[in-house]
Amino acid sequence: MILIRGGRVFSDSTFSRGGFEVKDVLIDGDRIAAVGSVDTDEVSEVVDASGCLVGPGFVDIHTHLREPGHTWKEDIASGSAAAVAGGFTAVVAMPNTDPPIDEVKIVEEVALRGDEVGLVEVAVAGAMTQGRAGVVPSDIEGLYECGVRVFTDDGDSVDDTDVLHSVMVRIAALPGAVVFQHAEDVSMTVDGHMHEGSMSVRLDVGGLPAEAEMEVVRRDLDLVRETGARYHCQHVSAAGTVELIRHAKAEGLPITAEVTPHHLSFDDTALADLDTNFKMYPPLRSSDDRRVLREALDDGTIDVVATDHAPHAPEEKATSFGEAPRGVIGLETAAAAVWEVVKDPALMFQALSLNPASIACLGEQGRPIAVGEPANIVVFDPRHEWTPDRFVSRSSNSPYKGRLLRGRPLLTVHRGRIVHRLRGVA
Ligand SMILES: [Zn+2]
Repeated sequence: MILIRGGRVFSDSTFSRGGFEVKDVLIDGDRIAAVGSVDTDEVSEVVDASGCLVGPGFVDIHTHLREPGHTWKEDIASGSAAAVAGGFTAVVAMPNTDPPIDEVKIVEEVALRGDEVGLVEVAVAGAMTQGRAGVVPSDIEGLYECGVRVFTDDGDSVDDTDVLHSVMVRIAALPGAVVFQHAEDVSMTVDGHMHEGSMSVRLDVGGLPAEAEMEVVRRDLDLVRETGARYHCQHVSAAGTVELIRHAKAEGLPITAEVTPHHLSFDDTALADLDTNFKMYPPLRSSDDRRVLREALDDGTIDVVATDHAPHAPEEKATSFGEAPRGVIGLETAAAAVWEVVKDPALMFQALSLNPASIACLGEQGRPIAVGEPANIVVFDPRHEWTPDRFVSRSSNSPYKGRLLRGRPLLTVHRGRIVHRLRGVA
């Protein structure tokens, strides 16, 4: 049995009002056995959590584990290890692998490998179209049958409206299934590398207009109205997109949305030296966009913070800004980045645990810390100061490298087992 002693614990009764109570949490097997004041007699392991937040493990619904096919960047083992170091107990693996995860056999292989590694729950997202080519729908019902709930061609939008419509009709018929859209009208982004604005003009770099994101979301909302499919907008970056989502939610459409930690932390002024560790899609936008994203997270228009953890090897990023691949890693720094922005324990757990678990239908995740619940737990120390330098991830393309962060997961428990412990602290 493991005892987490004296932390500020988020339990069922305290979630809604944002409070916390200092309690002990006893774990027996893969479940929470007691919450309150616990006698330590039979305990094999005691973790001092005083001053720390103790809540349900974080859930990342946007992770690129790069396996199969791109394992020099990351694989399921290294990505799972990075996840637990960041306090995550579940990730949703994106299907833009090689081959893409567009058929049952590959879903089963990835899920099996995730189980073998055993550090986090690896849920697998399935491609909406065969080969992620946007032309022929994949076997949506077959994928659903083997457990897939998240369907996405992430990395690309599904451009063809008729194809997306037919996919969404099928997804609407499957309880819990959801479309995740990477909103990017590529006709507007072919020559772009950063947000189109005064910075891109000054740096003479091709621009990626906010309209490229908004245009796709605008079209998709019509499809949601027509089909009733559940729809999740990935990595929202632009103020205009937030406005579209706000209206769609007010209308009662089944819409959710995510923002990445880096879009909360940075704006396009971070690109002054054209550091390729700040190159991603969608790009970092203006300070006004960033302010609107923060407000939208605060008022619930944006439901989730998701990392879009996108590892690339050092040699791939060590090139010109124009040639470097898009994407940054995020699992290990996400909680600190969110904490810096929200400073509200309840909102942090809503955005990093409860809401993502609910959107991706992960029933064992995002649960209150209460007797009988699965022991998927993070102990987060909001006082811990650190400067990311080396990473557990196989890649190190992080915009947070060398930056002072405050807040860090000290301990991660998955299915009752300690899968991460910050050395020298917990
Ligand atoms: Zn994407």
